[in-house]
Amino acid sequence: MRIENDVKLDFSDVLIRPKRSTLTSRKNVNLIRSFTFMHSARSWTGVPVAASNMDTTGTFEMARALSTHQMITALHKHYSIEDLEGFFAEFDEPDYVAYSLGIRDEDFGKLSVVLDAGLGEKFNFIVLDVPNAYLERFIVKVEELRALCPDHTIIAGNCVTNEITEEILLRGADIVKVGIGSGSACTTRRMTGVGYPQLSAIIECSDAAHGISNPATGVGLVMSDGGAVYPADAAKAFCGGTDFLMSGLFFSGFNQSGGDLVENGDGKFKEYYGMSSHTAMKNHYGGVAKHRASEGREVLLPYKGDVHDFIDELFGSLRSTATYIGALKLKEFSKRATFLLVNNQLNRSLEKYE
Ligand code: 5GP
Repeated sequence: MRIENDVKLDFSDVLIRPKRSTLTSRKNVNLIRSFTFMHSARSWTGVPVAASNMDTTGTFEMARALSTHQMITALHKHYSIEDLEGFFAEFDEPDYVAYSLGIRDEDFGKLSVVLDAGLGEKFNFIVLDVPNAYLERFIVKVEELRALCPDHTIIAGNCVTNEITEEILLRGADIVKVGIGSGSACTTRRMTGVGYPQLSAIIECSDAAHGISNPATGVGLVMSDGGAVYPADAAKAFCGGTDFLMSGLFFSGFNQSGGDLVENGDGKFKEYYGMSSHTAMKNHYGGVAKHRASEGREVLLPYKGDVHDFIDELFGSLRSTATYIGALKLKEFSKRATFLLVNNQLNRSLEKYE
């Protein structure tokens, strides 16, 4: 047994120190970033925020909405080939949509059919997603996916430490997805005791990723996944060094989100559930397999209306942070950031969402 004594931080453990700023208006803050990915060698321009590949957020409706803001939607992996063909017949924004898969043989089999059907040109991103990227089998699958899709930008994870971040990048991913146990609909920390405070995971993994480069293209990148509850958390994630931010909670409860709308005496609500919750397991696999426990939960969120309004609010908050810290662009957030350690400065209880 070993104990690591340095304190690891979550979004709620810090505030961002204000700094001298030459900005005259929030309107001048640029939230668009451009990257060239180290393996795919593709160039991309957009707002580096993505909706999670969950039933409730990785929907076709979300992709249509977010693409108009140059944001990415990672489609959930349960759409059928026919569903995908129907959607992609109309939707032609490959820079703002990701195809998702797991590491099962069926997942790779379905991807081959999708590619054979000519749909590979319709999405530039592929998310290879497992709860635990520390499995040797996952690392092998990263290599396999890179061989199968040399020109796609591969996002792979999830992990929370530097050594696996480096390994995943070296084996063929362009972007490493960072976060274990941080999701709002996730119960991994309660069920297994495993996890890593999200802000420290971002700081450590982005430092590792940015140290790996392909001189002809670019450096390794990270995507913080989960744990952002407030718009301020997005700002803190970018200040911590994440290149992309993925969120489920941000994009749930809207017209464009999946999940049933529930109306009762208390008002209107929308379902949000983890992908390993009983609800997801029942919908997709007929129930939770006997040898595993559910590590996700179901939440009823107040119905939030149209996602475009939230995006305006998110962009407004990021622009305001930029003004406080004197950053002209999103790219400058991590250079301008000084974090102050504080204790539990916000009441972050998720009870209000339940
Ligand atoms: P949120 O934005 O709600 O805090 O987190 C979303 C992220 O939680 C997803 O992108 C995914 O990585 C993770 N996640 C989704 N469903 C589950 C689940 O059932 N269990 C666990 N452990 N994580 C989940």
